[in-house]
Amino acid sequence: MSNRRQSAAIAAVLFACASAAQAYGPCQSEQSRSRETARRIDREWPQRPSNDELSRYIQSLGERLGRTSLTGRAIPWRFTVLRDRSPYAFSIGSGFVYIADGALRFARNESELAAILAHEIGHQLAGHFCEPDPPSHGRYDSSAVRRDEVGTLVQVIDPRKELEADQYAVDILRDAGLDPRAMLEVAKRLPAHSGSGLGRPENERVFALQNRLRHFRPNAPGVQDSYEFRRLREHIRDQ
Ligand SMILES: [Zn+2]
Repeated sequence: MSNRRQSAAIAAVLFACASAAQAYGPCQSEQSRSRETARRIDREWPQRPSNDELSRYIQSLGERLGRTSLTGRAIPWRFTVLRDRSPYAFSIGSGFVYIADGALRFARNESELAAILAHEIGHQLAGHFCEPDPPSHGRYDSSAVRRDEVGTLVQVIDPRKELEADQYAVDILRDAGLDPRAMLEVAKRLPAHSGSGLGRPENERVFALQNRLRHFRPNAPGVQDSYEFRRLREHIRDQ
């Protein structure tokens, strides 16, 4: 897999849920499936060491977000930073979340970076890795579900789940004392990919978030970025 192809594919599916080809199964198998996928990612994807400063900061921010709900406190969150300049993140269930260091360059403030993580946490809190594959007939519009191969992984993008994870993310950000409107800002700034089929669902995400956030007033004087965020962002920009 060329880097170019990888970058193009993953940028197109920003915030997607990635899973192994045998994407969905009974909830009981989530843990073994996630572990297998995590091993595959460890073998195939360049990662930052878990003890470097950026990794430790992301782990700490992610845990803070994950702990905002009762379910989240029971999940052993593990956040891994991938070496990739494209801004994206994905999760594979059982607390495993992956985020490219390009997401730190993409985020204009700490709440936006947190929104990217909160969306992935939302997928897990919503139980998306426990649900069966959408039916291929009936009322559910399965044609809206996309599957993309990225290396040996298959990324599954189900617009219904994307909307749901966004709604979870709004609550997570609010409860963590961050700016929930950052989820909308991030969704608006998703890269445009003509012909990818993502246009319509992305617009639906923005619309749904605008609707959800219409009663949120801007915080005064606003959520401040932490010192760690500002320092690491400067640091990564120089790399
Ligand atoms: Zn998603």
